[in-house]
Amino acid sequence: MTATQQLLAETESVCPICLKTLAAQRVAEGDNIYLSKHCAEHGHFKTILWRGIDSYRQWGNRGSRAARPPVSETKVERGCPHDCGLCPDHLQHTCCVLLEVTQRCNIKCPVCFASAADDNTDPSLGEIETWLRLLLAHGSKVNIQLSGGEPTMRDDLPQIVALTRSLGFDFVQLNTNGIRLAKEASYAQRLADAGLDCVFLQFDGVSDEVYKHIRGARLLDLKTAAIDRCTKAGLGVVLVPTLVPGINVGEIGKIIDFALERVPGVRAVHFQPISYFGRYPAPPAEADRLTLPEIMDEIEAQTEGRVHAADFSPGSAENAYCSFSGKFFVGKDGSLHPAAEPAANACCGDDTTSACGCGVPSRGDDALRARQFVASHWVTPEQRSAPEEQHAGINVDSLNAFLATRQHSFCISAMAFQDAWNLDLERLRECFIHVVAPDRRIVPFCAYNLTAISGESLYRHPACVEA
Ligand SMILES: [Zn+2]
Repeated sequence: MTATQQLLAETESVCPICLKTLAAQRVAEGDNIYLSKHCAEHGHFKTILWRGIDSYRQWGNRGSRAARPPVSETKVERGCPHDCGLCPDHLQHTCCVLLEVTQRCNIKCPVCFASAADDNTDPSLGEIETWLRLLLAHGSKVNIQLSGGEPTMRDDLPQIVALTRSLGFDFVQLNTNGIRLAKEASYAQRLADAGLDCVFLQFDGVSDEVYKHIRGARLLDLKTAAIDRCTKAGLGVVLVPTLVPGINVGEIGKIIDFALERVPGVRAVHFQPISYFGRYPAPPAEADRLTLPEIMDEIEAQTEGRVHAADFSPGSAENAYCSFSGKFFVGKDGSLHPAAEPAANACCGDDTTSACGCGVPSRGDDALRARQFVASHWVTPEQRSAPEEQHAGINVDSLNAFLATRQHSFCISAMAFQDAWNLDLERLRECFIHVVAPDRRIVPFCAYNLTAISGESLYRHPACVEA
């Protein structure tokens, strides 16, 4: 602490060099909130968390409620985040689960969560079934995200989707760069026929310069083609931009307009400010970080007031500082209107629920409602009202009535993932987005992707870290 800093709260984090758990403090300095920590061996680290102290305080007052996972598979031995599995100290149910069905990819992104590698050891269909049954044994039908690598590298992806649905999972999402969806005429339809609900499409901007910088290739035409094919196949699309300061923050408004032109095929835009995983020569500079309030302000400014920062709320299931979301109805003229709270009996309605980086939040009954909210919001009404979709726990009549009013609803959301510099273990313990690791442990997303500055990973197989 320095004379210019004000202590807001004690928490814990890790050293970005050695990944040891450290005491950490959230401190205010000027109008900024920082995470401050000290490793006896590697020195002091200070990382921006939030720009704007008033909004920081207000946002936290709308925070979440915790609920322990029903089943813990690992013991508390070394302390958070070293015992994930989940351990009894975790404070949140599993809601959205990523299954990394391959580590292979068809582009080489400088920005990649998964550190995709030329690793040809995809898990077998039988292993994936084991993961799914493990999740069922944990007591709830979570939302499944098929992820990677690039999942469409697997020719048996439709079988994986069908397997997931056949085991009773209600919501299956594909996280993809869209290249195969664009290039292969019948592919979107095959995935839809297999039971896929929603496509989370990497979509970083509306100019090829952005893709060249972030993904190493000119991809805009392919992205557009992928959206067209998904829409034709009845697959809901969520555009997922990774926001990189100095590269595509200026395209936020254009991305929203691009999405609105394609409603209801495109259901939502889900922004993700860049996090720093993998090997880095030096800690990321403060200017290389974008915080959630800045994204809300940029949305307001770049939509010329059609959307207001005040239209957004924190997620109800996760830590408030992880995300924001807002739901809107789209007028015939393209205007946006914040959606009123749905009626209490509208079955899926928890509008304060975040549209998480994946599918849905969770927490006991809150978790179920949150799952249903996202499931209903991110698939097309036609899909969701189909007879096979009338699963237990949803009042179909009220759901259909509800959906009829929201044919052209639209969601804008963001999620800030944590890296070794800004990791706050209090937030991590409330994480509801989990990954099934190859050793079958269930690990919170940000712990799973956590890497030291050297690229060393806590949970990923070493071969997958070298991309
Ligand atoms: Zn250290």
